Amino acid sequence: MARPDKRDAASIGDRTLSVHGGNHAEGEGNAIRVPIIMANSYHLPDDPSTMDWSNPEHLTYTRNTGINQIALQDKLRRLEHAEDAVALASGVAALHAVFFAHVSVGDHVVVSDTTYEATYKLWTSLLPRKYGIEATFVDVADHDAVRAAIRPNTVLIATEVIANPTTKVADIAALARIADDHGIILMVDSTFTPPPLYRPLDDGAGLVVHSLTKYINGHGDAMGGAVVGRAGLVAPIRSEAMVDVGGVISPFNAWLIMRGSVTLPLRLRQHQETALELARFLEADDRIAYVAYPGLESHPQHELARRQFGDPGRGVGGYGGIMAFALKPRDGEDTAELQNRFVNDLRVITSAVSVGHDESLIVHVGTSGPRVAAYPEGFRAFGHLRFSVGLEDVDDLKADLAAALDSATA
Ligand SMILES: *Cc1c(COP(=O)(O)O)cnc(C)c1O
Repeated sequence: MARPDKRDAASIGDRTLSVHGGNHAEGEGNAIRVPIIMANSYHLPDDPSTMDWSNPEHLTYTRNTGINQIALQDKLRRLEHAEDAVALASGVAALHAVFFAHVSVGDHVVVSDTTYEATYKLWTSLLPRKYGIEATFVDVADHDAVRAAIRPNTVLIATEVIANPTTKVADIAALARIADDHGIILMVDSTFTPPPLYRPLDDGAGLVVHSLTKYINGHGDAMGGAVVGRAGLVAPIRSEAMVDVGGVISPFNAWLIMRGSVTLPLRLRQHQETALELARFLEADDRIAYVAYPGLESHPQHELARRQFGDPGRGVGGYGGIMAFALKPRDGEDTAELQNRFVNDLRVITSAVSVGHDESLIVHVGTSGPRVAAYPEGFRAFGHLRFSVGLEDVDDLKADLAAALDSATA
């Protein structure tokens, strides 16, 4: 299309970008949405030797690139204020892609002591065993500890912005300064804080990972992952982890995620508004042992969260839509039985893993396991319910929580 496209302007708003980003009239009849192209291969030029095989926009084979990947990557790149983006098969594929492309045999990494379970497994078991890579787990809120953990062979600091499941908030600008001082990469998993809520690259992160499965798709019906960031850091991820090792996203999933992400800013605003109201509602109930949500004044990094996410100049601000809490067992009562009873008594909120879906999801996680040692005391004593607040009416969610609290503690 030769027409000049105002939608490419740098000053474009987040909602306009979420609707139009990456979307170009395509195919027969100039459909106004990029159609699903499931073909594995694309026609080669008359003389294939003239082709630049390493150009990521050059369409040859779907493991290298495709119409739907290009559209999604373009939108994600612009939403995150990144130079480049690569879409992959899942969030874990995206995490692994960063480690695979940027960490080698004998390297060392510094990793947040509270992370998504699969990240923890990669660094404690798979990568050390297969590649002799060593990880030091630190409390990323303790910047002296982060500095002290860095060795001559350290290549990467890895953290989540808001940690799954404790909701610990990392100071990305401070960690980026530490990484820069040592000439190493800060990799941030921003799954809990998608744009426009927060943009870690603006605060100096080198690479940002998303599970597209969560908020960015938002509808609980497609898996995907992405790495966005500086062009020089993303290029080896595309060539090594996608083309060479094959973690490519399916065109159909890229199309679904493209569609789901149209409403991302609107959904986020509602997720956050409802989450804050429910967090306050739960915290005010004396049958609740604790509520961990960065939007509550009682949260240990509330001030940091307000400073980091809350500046309206950066986007929508807010604290995300995910919290953790537990019911308070009475003397001698088994905490796991109590939490299970509560979850089983819920009628609107669904007991299932994953987060960031349109429907509210809750999962009960117990008090044992290797990662739990780094969790706050309440998590260790009572376990936790990870609660991803959905888009239902807040009054229905409140009534559901209240009724289950009554019946579980009766
Ligand atoms: C779910 C999740 C992942 C993994 O994403 P998948 O799409 O399930 O592979 C990574 N990081 C965080 C913080 C997550 O919540």
